[in-house]
Amino acid sequence: MGIDPDTAQWLLDLLGQDVRLNEPMSRHTSFRVGGPADVLARPRDLTTLVRLIRGAGERHLPFLVIGGGTNLVVRDAGIRRLVIVLSGGFRDIADSGDSPEGVRLTAGAGCRLQGFCRFAMNRGLAGMNFALGIPGTIGGAIRVNAGTRRGWISDVLRKLYVLQPDGTEQILRRADMNFSYRTLSWDPVTSDNAQPIIVQGVFCLTPEDPASLKSEATQILADRHASQPMGLPSAGCFFKNPPGEAPAGRLIEAAGLKGTQIGGAAVSTRHANYIVNREKATAADILSLMELIQETVKDKFDIDLEPEVHIVGS
Ligand SMILES: Cc1cc2nc3c(=O)[nH]c(=O)nc-3n(C[C@H](O)[C@H](O)[C@H](O)COP(=O)(O)OP(=O)(O)OC[C@H]3O[C@@H](n4cnc5c(N)ncnc54)[C@H](O)[C@@H]3O)c2cc1C
Repeated sequence: MGIDPDTAQWLLDLLGQDVRLNEPMSRHTSFRVGGPADVLARPRDLTTLVRLIRGAGERHLPFLVIGGGTNLVVRDAGIRRLVIVLSGGFRDIADSGDSPEGVRLTAGAGCRLQGFCRFAMNRGLAGMNFALGIPGTIGGAIRVNAGTRRGWISDVLRKLYVLQPDGTEQILRRADMNFSYRTLSWDPVTSDNAQPIIVQGVFCLTPEDPASLKSEATQILADRHASQPMGLPSAGCFFKNPPGEAPAGRLIEAAGLKGTQIGGAAVSTRHANYIVNREKATAADILSLMELIQETVKDKFDIDLEPEVHIVGS
């Protein structure tokens, strides 16, 4: 489809250096795969973001917001939309004072989750250690309700600042947010399926001795290093754990699929719920391997595995 010259000029006038046409998404995903986005914009402040999404609406240009791209598979033909990356700005962390529950910290959607975990630890605030080792941004973590067996982001989130797809600002309290396993559902979803943009989150953490937080952190990171593949591109665990069944990784391993490779994509030999980009994989390799895993697990155990990663593009 591509971007028409008037729209391209409007984007250049609004964003200058912060806009790219035909930008390979392999540069913006931890899997290192994905064809070009028609246009990728990196607004650095709220005013620019609001202008961008209002202007995109007037021009009937659909958009997709991403953070660190660490939970994404972008298909090889790329994305026929405006991709908005928030990790270029929206990175402030601020102390928002005490509440009866604990200490409130506000973090921008583009802030690295690891930076936020370290900030909390250094301030002697407990509640974020569960997320140590999870890459990506605060915005992405909230959208996918990132977590581990030690906790989820929804446990500590108290308030959310979002922009509705028409550019209206909105504050959501925790009771208005609909979190479940690996998702935050928006209610109502607009007719063209456009989603609100997460701009900022307010978290409630509790005071604790920094030394004990740091020693817990060392243990959590050591556990991750021992159990997960390091060094090869991936998007973390590929499938959700099916409810009431063994974890997805154990089912994939029991189906004899550890090490199975299609093209450059392989089932990790270390953790079977990781698909890794072993040698210049394409998105097609990854998705073919995904289907093979789903079919094999269905045949052997009559269990449907649902992807945890978000698959986008054409
Ligand atoms: C090595 C490795 C280990 C991992 N371990 C874990 C783990 O233990 N637990 C876990 O939960 N995840 C894990 N992940 C997956 C991933 O890192 C997390 O889910 C992370 O929180 C995604 O954040 P992101 O910024 O990269 O989101 P993206 O991948 O950029 O986006 C994910 C989804 O969120 C949407 N989104 C992103 N930002 C916004 C925003 N501001 N507003 C609205 N929507 C938005 C996107 O459109 C997309 O649908 C791992 C990934 C890797 C590579």
